[in-house]
Amino acid sequence: MNFQWYPGHMTKAKRQMQEDIKLIDLVIELVDARIPLSSRNPDIDDLGKNKARLILLNKSDLSDERKNEAWASYFKAKGFYVVKLDARRRNSMKEIQNVILEACKEKIERDRRVRAMVVGIPNVGKSTFINTFAGKACAKTGNKPGVTKGKQWIRLNKDVELLDTPGILWPKFDDQMVGLRLALIGSIKDEILNIDELSLELISYLKENYAGTLAARYEVEETVERPVELLEAIAQKRGCVQRGNEIDYSKAAALVIDDFRSGRLGRITLELPEAN
Ligand code: GDP
Repeated sequence: MNFQWYPGHMTKAKRQMQEDIKLIDLVIELVDARIPLSSRNPDIDDLGKNKARLILLNKSDLSDERKNEAWASYFKAKGFYVVKLDARRRNSMKEIQNVILEACKEKIERDRRVRAMVVGIPNVGKSTFINTFAGKACAKTGNKPGVTKGKQWIRLNKDVELLDTPGILWPKFDDQMVGLRLALIGSIKDEILNIDELSLELISYLKENYAGTLAARYEVEETVERPVELLEAIAQKRGCVQRGNEIDYSKAAALVIDDFRSGRLGRITLELPEAN
């Protein structure tokens, strides 16, 4: 799901969230491990106050492992339970089950019932996670004929149920840096972006923080002064030229961004907890 946000969208999403959140004990919040803060909406802290909180650092297969650890510590220090995740794979699901039991221990002891919901911005992996975690094997509760109207809950184990539709959080657009990072991971429509600009920001960041990455992938020298010269070198290496032998910057820009998004540039994190 990759749509643009208008104030109407946000009001509707927020209202829906306020309704759903009343029903639950635990908020399972997915963030993108490459931009754990820019992919959050801090309004959830207010909406989810008095709830148990679990943060899943999703797409951690694409982010820097050392930074994953740093971000996990950052969120744990703020009182969240945290698990690193690749939502497409089943291997962390047992760990998540255990963390949920730990996070909701008192509630389970008291009521023998915990209800949870998954929240996050578009494209962060909510549906993928629900599918992998709850899967087909789990019986849906409340989907018998005649009760289809109400909320659908997926039973995870004898004490825990998960709301089958995730809560959609609206991204933060007010901060330009945040917008840029969201664009880089692909959660803002490419048509409305300046791809050339975006790739230059990425190239600068990589040059500074992941020296040697571009050199290794594209066989270019990183010693050049300006990012645009690096983009030009990449274009030349990859034959991104237009008619008349003009450099096709946009084609090279799209190539670099696509290589980043798909992990072909390696595991990269775009923001650091130390700076926040
Ligand atoms: P939603 O909008 O939050 O429900 O996001 P989706 O579940 O539709 O996922 C968006 C895209 O991210 C899909 O192409 C997924 O395959 C991909 N995706 C989800 N989780 C992961 C992950 O942990 N790692 C990687 N590499 N891709 C993921």
